[in-house]
Amino acid sequence: MRAAWAEVSLDQIRKNVRYLMGRTTPPTKLMGVVKANGYGHGVIPVARVLEAEGASYFAVAIPQEGIELRDAGFREPILILGRSFDEDYPLVLEYDLMPAIFSAEQARVLNEGAAKAGKIASVHIKIDTGMARLGFVPGPEAMEEIARIAAMPNIRIEGIFSHFATASSVRDDSYCRGQFAKFTSFTDELEAAGIKIPLKHISNSAAAILYPEMQLDMVRPGMAVYGLYAGPEFMGLPGVEVYPAMEIKAKLASVKRVPSGTKIGYDGTFETKRESLIGVVPMGYVDGVRRSLGNKGAVLLHGRRCPIVGKVCMDQFMIDITDLDDPRENDEVVIIGRQEGEYISAEEFAESCGSVSIEVLCQLGRRMPLVYK
Ligand SMILES: *Cc1c(COP(=O)(O)O)cnc(C)c1O
Repeated sequence: MRAAWAEVSLDQIRKNVRYLMGRTTPPTKLMGVVKANGYGHGVIPVARVLEAEGASYFAVAIPQEGIELRDAGFREPILILGRSFDEDYPLVLEYDLMPAIFSAEQARVLNEGAAKAGKIASVHIKIDTGMARLGFVPGPEAMEEIARIAAMPNIRIEGIFSHFATASSVRDDSYCRGQFAKFTSFTDELEAAGIKIPLKHISNSAAAILYPEMQLDMVRPGMAVYGLYAGPEFMGLPGVEVYPAMEIKAKLASVKRVPSGTKIGYDGTFETKRESLIGVVPMGYVDGVRRSLGNKGAVLLHGRRCPIVGKVCMDQFMIDITDLDDPRENDEVVIIGRQEGEYISAEEFAESCGSVSIEVLCQLGRRMPLVYK
């Protein structure tokens, strides 16, 4: 095994899923969002936990991720959140995946394929209520197109959904409430026109936690499953109980004593001001320890914060460990996570490199082995 790894706690994921299930009122269902390899945590083990805890649906971003779940034996309905293209439909039908549909033309092509295959394709209609991303914009034209889709013999509209742009903004919920109102008034209009769609859903993690009144028939949490916080305003809110599930660790690769005035790393961007002990961590920017952390971030060793010195290299970076008592090769370095009393959260790590926790964890989980606890 590599001497740098990502430790994933399935217990923490289980706690998070139980917490989310506890906040949804039956018969509201929970759709576990497991796109991007379960936000970097490994899609199959995460999906097993979700399944065992009663999540009845899965959501992925692209058809290939749905196929991976099917190949592993999962039988739950799987929604593809992103666009499925015409050339994806044969696989969508073969693997019984549900595409998000946002034009009658997409549905026409799918309907034709489904008729040929002798199948009825289930779909969810995507509505754009304020992201300007995918989806029908509510209005007469959308009504007319959805009515056409509803009449297609080999299509079954099982769900209709939208996505919040600002649900994690705790202080100002007006945009979020506006989106919700737009969505529900449009689905009411559809119903009045005789188009009854069984599953309406809009809530991501933040909304699933903050707005019980917006749960509708299903909630779609992603980040909360993994214990990630939807923005800094979210942390420390009373009643928010999610636990981070991933820690990033490595073994110290080298300890070296250098004199004052030594330049560290490429381009010598750091120069020691005293005789120093320099440690080498065997992870670099291709692993997701961003170059922007050079001379900026810190990691934990012996339960203390040790600053990153010099530029981060491709597969290694250096830390100043002068103040530690007898650091040694093979000692455990924590890049994200807890060590003794100290803690570096994914959010803090992401903040130091100008990113967000999902982006950094997905990247960190890609090259390093995932180890399950
Ligand atoms: C990613 C995604 C989610 C999950 O969002 P989180 O903020 O991670 O809970 C839900 N719905 C859609 C459409 C998404 O793309």
